[in-house]
Amino acid sequence: MHEYYVTQQLIKIAEDELKEIKPKKVLSIKVVVGELSGIIDESLKFYFDILTKGTILEGSKLEIVQKKALLFCNSCQSLFERTKDFLCPKCKSLGKLTEHGREFYIESIEVDDGDGN
Ligand SMILES: [Zn+2]
Repeated sequence: MHEYYVTQQLIKIAEDELKEIKPKKVLSIKVVVGELSGIIDESLKFYFDILTKGTILEGSKLEIVQKKALLFCNSCQSLFERTKDFLCPKCKSLGKLTEHGREFYIESIEVDDGDGN
């Protein structure tokens, strides 16, 4: 059910953004989702279709850009993509989680403003 509320928030933010532009139609909305955000893409898509009914976003395509989690190694000060054992590929020290991978935000919204371009 987590995604239900998350999707509601997402739609609210998008609607606020679109208030200014007043597009004829919304074509697609691109959302960045980190792998540690706890958000499941399929659920997000599922609720998006349901919750956008009757809104300006109805019929638009939800594009999800996945971001990998990055770990930080204190020993050699490097950022690396999460490994299974959390070990730094360079020096084999234990890395720690960073903010990379917890993303959840709207990157862009593609609209049709009706002038044919
Ligand atoms: Zn290292």
